[in-house]
Amino acid sequence: MTAAPPAVRVGVDVGGTKVEAVAIDAAGGILARMRRETVRGEAGVIASVSDAVARVAAEPGVGPVAAVGIGIPGQIVGARVRNAVNLGISDLDLGGEVTAAVGAAVHVENDVNAAAAGAYAIRGAVGASMAYLNLGTGIAAGIVHDGRVWPGAGGTAGEVGHVSIDPRGPECPCGQRGCIETLAGGGAVARRWSGDGEHPVLDLFDAADAADGRALSLRGDLARGVAAAVRVLVLTADPAVVVIGGGVSRLGDRLLDVVRGELRASSERSAFLTSLRLHERIELLPSDAPAGALGAALLAPAFEGVARG
Ligand SMILES: [Zn+2]
Repeated sequence: MTAAPPAVRVGVDVGGTKVEAVAIDAAGGILARMRRETVRGEAGVIASVSDAVARVAAEPGVGPVAAVGIGIPGQIVGARVRNAVNLGISDLDLGGEVTAAVGAAVHVENDVNAAAAGAYAIRGAVGASMAYLNLGTGIAAGIVHDGRVWPGAGGTAGEVGHVSIDPRGPECPCGQRGCIETLAGGGAVARRWSGDGEHPVLDLFDAADAADGRALSLRGDLARGVAAAVRVLVLTADPAVVVIGGGVSRLGDRLLDVVRGELRASSERSAFLTSLRLHERIELLPSDAPAGALGAALLAPAFEGVARG
């Protein structure tokens, strides 16, 4: 018998502007939580993550850290992060660098898959499967099946943002046209609405409520895109619930209402789609829930609960 390792794990969610960290105990309960700015660039991200780990570990009642999980955008190959364009990373051994800096085992995970694991833990009582649909600058989903995040053969599972639903639609950076992300991604919506405000999607919804024709049309596109993502997820993975999170989800019921309306309308002529009760399967992640950081912590090495499939 070997001695039990220290039970504390830290999860870090690396976003374009903020890094959020949580420390959890063996049961997955949150002991401490902190946020700081993200410094971009490879050295900046390593320093931001290492500092977040050190600061959350220094909180009262946390103590030595057994393992660290990191959720970060980009392609994840082992412990390396590739093509995280918004963070200024082209190819970085993030796991190796953070292990060297903090002296704990590190697991690196795609940010949306980490958030899916966190959303699953936060949601509780969800049945065998759940999908987490992240509506941020881009759109992607994580699929949790039998309590495990399902990454697919090459990490592409859940990339619903690049399902094309309009071959004549706007060009997508991925090379296709009319991807769901071009209609409903926060970045694309902000560019198309071209409002000057700090919260362009919120401004767009306000303008649509005030009956601005262009805003109504763009809000309709957004609802069609999100509804299509929900349909794709239900028809491929049949999750009991699709939990919607990400920056755009902070619109709350204003978002749910238009997406539910679109799901109902698009099911109207199909007894099959009606039978799936799509509009009843969607719900919002609580807006302040640290799903990404919690999920990253749960996916850190040696945790016995939700684990990477
Ligand atoms: Zn695309």
